Amino acid sequence: MRLLIMGPPGVGKGTQARGIAAHYEVPAISTGDIFRANVRNQTPLGQKVAAIMAEGGYVPDEITDAIVRDRLGEDDAAAGWLLDGYPRTLGQVEALDGVLAESGTALDAVISLVADEDVLVERLLKRAEIEGRADDNADTIRNRMAVYNQATDPLLAIYRDRGLLVEVDGIGTIEEVGGRITAALDQVAAS
Ligand code: AMP
Repeated sequence: MRLLIMGPPGVGKGTQARGIAAHYEVPAISTGDIFRANVRNQTPLGQKVAAIMAEGGYVPDEITDAIVRDRLGEDDAAAGWLLDGYPRTLGQVEALDGVLAESGTALDAVISLVADEDVLVERLLKRAEIEGRADDNADTIRNRMAVYNQATDPLLAIYRDRGLLVEVDGIGTIEEVGGRITAALDQVAAS
């Protein structure tokens, strides 16, 4: 299985990514996690991207694309993978297309977790309260949603056109949503 997973802030994308990857026995590869680990370990890459990440900006495509290309070339990714947080730009879509073409492989599906924005805002507000994050208020959260939609809508359109998009209701328990995703993917695999 070669999969992408996309979903708005608060939908539980990272949790589902790990569960789905475990289910299909492929690595879950999160570009955010890779960057965060490099910042934590103060690697040359980490030093390059720390300021960008602190501001919530995007790491330049040439850096991100190279990281993903290298990671997908590792042994554990030979039989499949699930990418979380990549691609985020049209340039990254093209770069991923290039990596896939070079290795004679293709995406099986793009999972899009869908949820009502008001439900997600409620959820994130509650989390901010519990974690004492005063800078997370309804306005900043809605702004993050808008930024997500603006960045992601064109990518979802591309994968929808290619017939790869699998939209799944993201509201429910971790098990419920995970079950919906695997059921939808099993259908894709059977078709
Ligand atoms: P995430 O955990 O996916 O929200 O990623 C955390 C941060 O890492 C983002 O705010 C970006 O600064 C950076 N990042 C992660 N993935 C990408 C990507 N595909 N393109 C550019 N920057 C990224």
